[in-house]
Amino acid sequence: MKCAPFDYVRAGSVEEVVKVLAGSDGDGKILAGGQSLVPVLALRMARPSVLVDVNRIPGLGAIRPVDGAVEVGALARHSALVAQTHHPLLAEAATWIGHTAIRSRGTAGGSIAHADPSAELPVVAVGTGATVSVAGPEGVRTTTAEELFVSALVTSLGEDEMITSIRFPQPERWGFAEFARRHGDFALVMALVAEVDGAVRVTIGGVGAVPARAAEAEQVLAAGGTAREAAAAAAAGIEPTADLHGSVPFRRAMAAEMVRRACARAGID
Ligand SMILES: Cc1cc2nc3c(=O)[nH]c(=O)nc-3n(C[C@H](O)[C@H](O)[C@H](O)COP(=O)(O)OP(=O)(O)OC[C@H]3O[C@@H](n4cnc5c(N)ncnc54)[C@H](O)[C@@H]3O)c2cc1C
Repeated sequence: MKCAPFDYVRAGSVEEVVKVLAGSDGDGKILAGGQSLVPVLALRMARPSVLVDVNRIPGLGAIRPVDGAVEVGALARHSALVAQTHHPLLAEAATWIGHTAIRSRGTAGGSIAHADPSAELPVVAVGTGATVSVAGPEGVRTTTAEELFVSALVTSLGEDEMITSIRFPQPERWGFAEFARRHGDFALVMALVAEVDGAVRVTIGGVGAVPARAAEAEQVLAAGGTAREAAAAAAAGIEPTADLHGSVPFRRAMAAEMVRRACARAGID
């Protein structure tokens, strides 16, 4: 199947993107790396009237340290996240995204905006308490990753808004663990354990509609519990659904194991 017809605008600035989106009555779409959007268009699951290509906007691909965090421009490619050394957790998580071709085109802003529950960057965003800068007709606003992810593939972004950057705090220590059938496949389950501002955050991805903090596991660790106790608490607190890739008990067991491994990698036994 081929995409339905659409107009194409190559934007030169964020302001132009917002203007085109605002003028399209909610029928416009941003084109970044195209790794998620183009398959959606090809399957005609979306039929936008206009695509706004943001790839030529200058300055949106920067990755730079700022105040104990790393600010990632919306157009930073996954491959650039792998290559950078400012934020080792981001580099590690990005190695799990798809394959070389996908990492060389896909962008950080696109991954966050697409909000796939099995994607790595949303888990890192929630797990580190990242903030997201969003440009719209009223100017630029800042929101938290937790506020941004509403449901699977659904965010709180307005139809005329664009993510311009994501600020990922630098964890004091962290461990990331993922289970996928093959490296490069979407995760069946992943876990991030990250200490940020002295508090250990446990975040699980792939088993629910959005990346979710495992509050029970965090409480166990805050009270001096072991990694195994935290893993059991995390698994008890999730509501996985069964699909072709795994049953509910399988996903629950894998979630426990990923939390245990992430704890171990963060230095928590
Ligand atoms: C075979 C395959 C395997 C993959 N495996 C993985 C994987 O293992 N893990 C993983 O995380 N991802 C995976 N992906 C998805 C990949 O990471 C995409 O790059 C990412 O999800 C979307 O980024 P993009 O830049 O390609 O966005 P696009 O496809 O261009 O856009 C995706 C959506 O986000 C919107 N959007 C894009 N940029 C912005 C912005 N700045 N502000 C607001 N909205 C915006 C678009 O309008 C669109 O709705 C895979 C993709 C493929 C094709």
